[in-house]
Amino acid sequence: MRNTLYKSAILEKIRNHNFVEDLNLAHEMAVNYANKVDNMRVYPDQEAIDNLKVFDEELNDQPQSTMNILNQLNTYGSPATVAQTGRRYFGFVNGGILPSALSTKWLTDTWDQNPAMYVLSPVTSKIEEVTEKWLKDLLGLPNETVAGFVSGSSTATIIGLTTGRNFLLKNLGYDAIKNGLINAPKIKIVIGEGAHSTVYKALSIIGLGNNTLIKVPADEQQRIRIDKIPELDNKTLLILQAGNVNSGSFDDFSAICKKANEVGAWVHVDGAFGLWAAANEKFNHITKDVQLADSWSVDAHKTLSAPYDNGIILCKHKEMLINSMHMTGSYIIFSDNRDGMLYTSEMSRRARAIDLWATLKGLGKNGVSELVWELHQKAIYFAELLRAGGLEILNEVVFNQVLVRFKSDEETELLIKAVQESGVCWLGGAKANGKSVMRISVSSYKTTYEDIEISAKEILRLANKSESHF
Ligand SMILES: *Cc1c(COP(=O)(O)O)cnc(C)c1O
Repeated sequence: MRNTLYKSAILEKIRNHNFVEDLNLAHEMAVNYANKVDNMRVYPDQEAIDNLKVFDEELNDQPQSTMNILNQLNTYGSPATVAQTGRRYFGFVNGGILPSALSTKWLTDTWDQNPAMYVLSPVTSKIEEVTEKWLKDLLGLPNETVAGFVSGSSTATIIGLTTGRNFLLKNLGYDAIKNGLINAPKIKIVIGEGAHSTVYKALSIIGLGNNTLIKVPADEQQRIRIDKIPELDNKTLLILQAGNVNSGSFDDFSAICKKANEVGAWVHVDGAFGLWAAANEKFNHITKDVQLADSWSVDAHKTLSAPYDNGIILCKHKEMLINSMHMTGSYIIFSDNRDGMLYTSEMSRRARAIDLWATLKGLGKNGVSELVWELHQKAIYFAELLRAGGLEILNEVVFNQVLVRFKSDEETELLIKAVQESGVCWLGGAKANGKSVMRISVSSYKTTYEDIEISAKEILRLANKSESHF
């Protein structure tokens, strides 16, 4: 009987292998990388990128050793990484990685917990509960707010807007959760023109499309224009933002949210990188009354420097959120404790709230508050140095973003390319009010004032060099 049972020689070998040796090797390589990331080129050189062709191979028939796999990655992958965990990465809005978070992630990766249900991981359930409480406290959100731990703001926005849509329809006597949208009464979606593209994507994913939205013009800083917002009512889903992806500007929550609350509109705030400003009272002029919204999406993997895959949906309406994300199955075991899947669109996922918990603990309340304030001060300093060097600054630096212009569209674009190739720092470009701009995002706790000086000097050197060609 026994010898009819299949036993794989491959799996037997993997089971018998010394796992700890692999972990130690990975550890050694990671430590080497961490030791050199501050001094490596910020963007890989062409040779490192060309070498990526070693990965163009067929999947091996037989198992490869972890040592071979790690060696290949370390030899060809590491030099081709973008050093965004270093000190001079200013592209997109990325942030670094905090020691408390990364070390914790190493440990919890080996735990490999699944926070879908309490019974799957009591420890993660507990830590999600605590982290939710800390977040409310840090950001000054209402006590009834709940948090779902998701991959990023894209998903958080999908969940916030789905919940808002279902809430409004329920108040109109229609159950969208059961009946879907096909026969649903009309609701009104009001969005500022400066909204992030992931918000448009979320609206389209949840069946609200893009063409029927009421797009409210934005001012030149990309803030929604209050005088252009249509009449709000209890059929309105209003989307605001804390931190425009280019200018960093914040919508005027104070003027808008009270009115929305009075008539029963739902307000969702996309605060992907900017909502953390609410952790420092010196930012009160831009975050005032943001707590009057109904749902908020925010990323811990940007300005807060948690590892990637750390977004949060925060929502004031627990029951509607849970009903909107609900699923059942005879094998599912709900408990009296927190079952993480009730708050997210995902069932199984990694225990990302633990790295967020460690990020918050590693900074402390004061650390979070000082982090956002320092990013702001560094952005102002960067803008001052570039302005003094003859470049034009196009935005009010209200948070961590700086928009820079060099003479014409073409010259701005050439300058961006030259900076990207320099390896000294990295930044991207965008269009703002129809003009090409260089986009600087000061997002990493690691960046020092000296790094800002080195980077500004390089940008100005390249600008002057291009000028001398004429
Ligand atoms: C980054 C960003 C998003 C999308 O967040 P992800 O975490 O990348 O999904 C949405 N809105 C704004 C303002 C952002 O900066």
